Amino acid sequence: MAVKESISTIIPCFNEEESIPLIYDELKRVLKDIKNVDYEIIFVDDGSSDHTSQIVKDLSKKDKKVKTVIFSRNFGKEAAMYAGLEKSTGDFVAILDADMQDPPELLKAMYHIIKEENVDCVALYTKSHKGYSFVRRYLTNCWYKIIESLSSSKQMPGARDFRLMKRKMVDAILSMKEYNRYLKGIYGYIGYETKWLPYDAPNRQAGKSKFNIGKLIQYGVEGIVAFSTTPLLFAAYVGLFFCIVSFLLILVIIIKTLIWGDPVSGWPSLACLVVFIGGLQLFFLGILGLYISKLYLEVKKRPIYIEKGDETNETSKSRH
Ligand code: UDP
Ligand code: MG
Repeated sequence: MAVKESISTIIPCFNEEESIPLIYDELKRVLKDIKNVDYEIIFVDDGSSDHTSQIVKDLSKKDKKVKTVIFSRNFGKEAAMYAGLEKSTGDFVAILDADMQDPPELLKAMYHIIKEENVDCVALYTKSHKGYSFVRRYLTNCWYKIIESLSSSKQMPGARDFRLMKRKMVDAILSMKEYNRYLKGIYGYIGYETKWLPYDAPNRQAGKSKFNIGKLIQYGVEGIVAFSTTPLLFAAYVGLFFCIVSFLLILVIIIKTLIWGDPVSGWPSLACLVVFIGGLQLFFLGILGLYISKLYLEVKKRPIYIEKGDETNETSKSRH
């Protein structure tokens, strides 16, 4: 008899105590329904301050299919997804949000497609973004336009983290050990054949979004810095442009002075220019600083996440 294939499902959770029972029940129902497939459900608790870690630990005690990773603090969704991928053992691996915005029911169709069409990954994107504020939708659209013009690694507008992929793709992702992780960019970088399916992401079923506008902007900037060095090149080009302009202006001033003498005039425009160029220099220094700060973190080679450790087995964990 052929060996049963298996699906690992990863759910990053940050203060999701209300959502976990919902997604657990639904995932169980869906995964049991997929014929001839074994499964595991991996909950990654990303340093929640509510009862999330206790709830997922209780689930793993009563259900052998449930695995848990509990972080020592909030490391972010990227770190949580990485931890889940590291712990997964399935031939196929899926990532789903805890809030039911990525309906587990769709996994059936995704598994069917990955088997029938022999693609490496089935990923979902949404065009509607309903349930998110106007500002968030506007910023997201702008961001996709910026990233498309800046980065060579392709990204699908509206792409969610919801996808089902083959083991070889997971191994490729795990081979990229960078500290500043941006998974949507990594997918584009590693290649592989991905089938994109549109769907209407429903509203969050319980709790509140964990991404406010500030966190979202930070995530967006990290995405750009992680996968494009074009801002640095842009700074260099603008710098070069101003050098040429100032050289030409100097020539004009010298010629004017030689012909008409040197009346003192035009200081307000000079003041504006000094402020403008000064501002521009600080802005580009900031861009440079961004890259250097990321480099600094990469060089330190810190772990992407730290597990809280089992309270009953604390001594063995705290030795290193
Ligand atoms: N999440 C996480 N760590 C964080 C923030 C979010 O693990 O620091 C998880 C969260 O619990 C959820 C998923 O990432 O399962 C998506 O978060 P959310 O639904 O708040 O994002 P949104 O739908 O607003 O983009
Ligand atoms: Mg959500």
